[in-house]
Amino acid sequence: MVINDKLKRSFEYLRISLTDRCNYRCSYCMPKDIFNADYKYLKKSELLTFEEILSFIKALKAFDIKKIRLTGGEPLLRRNIENLINGIKDTGINEVALTTNGSLLSFNKAKLLKQNGLDSVTISLDSLRCSTNKKINPYSNLSKVIDSIYIATDVFGYVKINVVIMNNVNSNEIFDIVDKFKNFNVEIRFIEFMDVGETNEWNLDRVYSSERIHRDISKYFSLIKLTDDHSSTSTKWQLNGYNAKIGFISSITQPFCGSCNRARLSADGLFYTCLFASQGYNVLDTLRKSSDINKLQNDIENVWTRRIDQYSVLRKSSRQDNEHKSKIEMSYIGG
Ligand code: SAM
Ligand code: SF4
Ligand code: SF4
Repeated sequence: MVINDKLKRSFEYLRISLTDRCNYRCSYCMPKDIFNADYKYLKKSELLTFEEILSFIKALKAFDIKKIRLTGGEPLLRRNIENLINGIKDTGINEVALTTNGSLLSFNKAKLLKQNGLDSVTISLDSLRCSTNKKINPYSNLSKVIDSIYIATDVFGYVKINVVIMNNVNSNEIFDIVDKFKNFNVEIRFIEFMDVGETNEWNLDRVYSSERIHRDISKYFSLIKLTDDHSSTSTKWQLNGYNAKIGFISSITQPFCGSCNRARLSADGLFYTCLFASQGYNVLDTLRKSSDINKLQNDIENVWTRRIDQYSVLRKSSRQDNEHKSKIEMSYIGG
């Protein structure tokens, strides 16, 4: 059964945050001064177990969910994640994807993930220069992340690379990044710096727009427009004469709320219908207290069919009415 929200968007895609912890501290996501030893992370007992996640996914099968993305925090910090992937595929979900910072992706791990049903990997990389990398993420291991991109290309045949561009931080590296990966079977997705959470000191001056990135790339390469999937967050282009594709994720300057078909499940089992939400429906409580799957299905149907989220559209038109509410962090809800 397909369920539609108040803006006629159907529920097709779930992103699951497996942990709110990470071994990196990207300034736009988990600034190190805030996410330090005093920060209150979720306790192990508060995390959904793999069995609970699978029960939830089985319940969601009633709604014709097509795709699941595992994210975090850093999802590869969860031990034996391949068992979860295997279980998800067993429920009949068509596509399982993973977003990772690449720091823990060895060749053997990538093969194990693929053998257990993982369909694709997205790896985050924001700079090719050690000095800029250290500025963005003091713990980054640049050569390992680049290695992981090669490993994932080898094992999966195709990799998406997420690059968050921040004005005057790494906005001078767009050509270098495209040039480095142009001959590989990759999609380089340039993401506008977003105002997720309350800790990353976002402001509009720090955003480097997709339009500017497109213009920068076009000085050196020709780009051919490709057809975008109906609910894709990125607009896709082919780098003419090369293998690489380029994607632009323009949440700030060209919001795509109108086709947003996704929900998010936090590591502690709250179900959110928008990246910028401040409240979620408690799946963990229902699973642990009653394990009543019918109730879970009814509740999710109610949450989705009442959904009116379009934060990015309202932000752009300055009609945001929830600025006073505290937004949840990207590392918690899962990017
Ligand atoms: N740790 C994994 C990683 O970095 O790939 C998965 C989780 S991370 C939250 C998922 C994606 O969100 C990453 O590609 C990251 O670059 C992106 N991201 C995090 N904070 C962001 C922000 N403020 N604006 C835009 N993208 C952001
Ligand atoms: Fe960690 Fe990913 Fe956030 Fe960077 S973007 S701090 S790697 S969760
Ligand atoms: Fe979807 Fe919310 Fe992002 Fe809009 S702002 S695209 S509704 S997650």
